[in-house]
Amino acid sequence: METRLSKAVLGINPSPTEATSSLANRMRRDGIDIISFAQGEPDFDTPPDISLEAVRAVVEGYTRYTDVPGMRDVREAVAEKFGRENGIRYTPSEVMVSNGGKQVLYLLFRTICDPGDEVVVPTPCYVSYEEQIRLSGASPVFVPVSEDRSFRIARDDIEPFITPRTKAVIINSPNNPTGAVCEESDLRAIAALAAERGIFIVTDEVYEHLLYDGRKHVSIAALGDEEKRITVTVNSASKTYAMTGWRIGYAGGPEDVISGMITLQGHVSGNVCSVAQRALLQALRGPQNAVAAMRDSYARRRDLMVEKINSIPGLRCRKPDGAFYAFADVTGLFGKRWREGFLENDLDTAAFFLKEAHVAVVPGTAFRRNGYVRFVFANSEEDIVRGLDRIGSAVASGLKD
Ligand code: PMP
Repeated sequence: METRLSKAVLGINPSPTEATSSLANRMRRDGIDIISFAQGEPDFDTPPDISLEAVRAVVEGYTRYTDVPGMRDVREAVAEKFGRENGIRYTPSEVMVSNGGKQVLYLLFRTICDPGDEVVVPTPCYVSYEEQIRLSGASPVFVPVSEDRSFRIARDDIEPFITPRTKAVIINSPNNPTGAVCEESDLRAIAALAAERGIFIVTDEVYEHLLYDGRKHVSIAALGDEEKRITVTVNSASKTYAMTGWRIGYAGGPEDVISGMITLQGHVSGNVCSVAQRALLQALRGPQNAVAAMRDSYARRRDLMVEKINSIPGLRCRKPDGAFYAFADVTGLFGKRWREGFLENDLDTAAFFLKEAHVAVVPGTAFRRNGYVRFVFANSEEDIVRGLDRIGSAVASGLKD
């Protein structure tokens, strides 16, 4: 049948991480005890002071349209946050709030890209960049980043891929799915390259607070005036404050870009939910002790998960420096046979884990890297042990050479 859909929508695929999660959910509904390491979100509830502020907002009648870029005090609080935590001096008119980091990124690509433009995307990468860039009419240019430098991006990785059509380069540190954290010297070198070539830096800093072993986050826009002029800083309450369901994110950047994004948002969603904005205000201005407590808990679970993964023959995993993902090399299992055939790639391996061990993971191919699978360690220690023990047993007894 002739399709009725637009080429733009036909040209994109559903989010592969959502596909894995929904298959696991279906198996669960069928009564199977699935342990899921697939869903990339905190397992904590939103800190109670934030939720209570939202309840108060409803009762006080914060239930109407607000300014499209965000309520005035929320924009002020976001600008303050960038100054206090990141060392970036944005004015309230250089920031905007949106429905999650995801919508921030979408508005941004649509605001800065024209058809024919290119956006440089280091890989492995977060799943939505590619489709969002395509929806803006531009093309993603994927740059493979090697595990030799623990998946840390360097200027030399990126430079060969810059063309006269390049509009922006994306930096995501800490990274989803590798947990890699960029070095300040690399960020400086990449920013210098971007400035020389007249391209934007899109820096996705949603995992900035999930850093381990005493590491400190570095924001590119804080490195100097030139860096600030070419950078758009994307962030969100989702991971820092365990607020994935609230759908609230924000951006700071040059006023022309931010104002373009606001104009677009005015026709896409209008303002962000007024109640979620009040919750963000409390998150940014209220006590921050929950953030550190969650980070400490993730750090313990990271150590446990990486140790368990590395105890399984055929699996190998570096300790990630940030985020809550363990990106494990599974090529040691390739060529082995199970009851449904040979394991030839990471998709087979993820299917083997799901069907034989009842453990859900996301194959690396979803992030543009075959040979790996992503485990989320924002899970209880009990489930981390149970899930990896199950994979260990499936590998020991369900595979033949
Ligand atoms: N960027 C990265 C790297 C992410 O992993 C995510 C969520 N998984 C987002 C952006 C978007 O998060 P949200 O829309 O919940 O703010």
